[in-house]
Amino acid sequence: MEKLKELYRGKAKSVYETNDPDHYIMLFRDDTSAFDGKKIEQLERKGRTNCHFNYFIMKKLEEAGIPVHVEELISDTECVVKKLEMVPVECVVRNVSAGSICRRLGVQEGLDLNPPTFEFFLKNDELHDPMVNDSHIISFKWGTQEQIDKMRSLSYKINEILKDLFDKAGLILVDYKLEFGLYHGELILGDEFSPDGCRLWDKETRKKLDKDRFRQGLGGVIEAYEEVARRIGCPL
Ligand code: ADP
Ligand code: UDP
Repeated sequence: MEKLKELYRGKAKSVYETNDPDHYIMLFRDDTSAFDGKKIEQLERKGRTNCHFNYFIMKKLEEAGIPVHVEELISDTECVVKKLEMVPVECVVRNVSAGSICRRLGVQEGLDLNPPTFEFFLKNDELHDPMVNDSHIISFKWGTQEQIDKMRSLSYKINEILKDLFDKAGLILVDYKLEFGLYHGELILGDEFSPDGCRLWDKETRKKLDKDRFRQGLGGVIEAYEEVARRIGCPL
């Protein structure tokens, strides 16, 4: 497959057109951002770590019956993905309270959430990704009721698969963000799953092993991502 021009340069990844009309190449860069792109740094080995991490998780999800966009790893920082028409919302599942839910609802960090919460946020950095509900998604035509139901049920199914995978590695899957898109009309999981878009705490010590290390300036960001990869058996 031939890599053609860069179609989209996001905060952490680039999407390239290819000579195949149904596929893109997704490149993971070392750029790391937080606070809607206000804090940006280059972290050595991040592109490579997240690319391998994402490939490993996407293939685990695929084996468990989740439709995913990732097809093939073609280098340490690139994979072939299905070309999706993205639904412009982020789906967030939380097993434990942390981050924005604590700020928004005034609840303390670390509360077990049973059942896990599910939230939609509009993907819009300028507006700081505001929370939206089913009604907004339908009325503004960002998605249909059927797509909403599928995003919610797939997000919860993914929770069961990944909570167990991380638990076996001594980690708590605190929360995570997913993005879905349409491939020839079928809703499938897109974007990435990596420590950039989820929270993972050590089960014993509750040490943060995810992007909060970058957000909070705790240091050892990539070392933490690498530790998670090693514990779940993901080759880097
Ligand atoms: P952001 O856009 O938030 O800065 P990234 O740097 O991660 O994020 O850029 C990747 C972009 O590619 C995101 O906007 C994401 O929605 C989009 N994307 C992810 N997977 C696909 C896909 N398979 N087809 C088309 N677009 C995709
Ligand atoms: N998240 C993300 N991209 C976003 C917003 C959130 O990957 O644009 C992830 C984040 O890393 C966390 C989860 O979604 O794992 C929930 O994020 P939250 O709403 O708590 O926002 P935050 O305080 O992390 O900005």
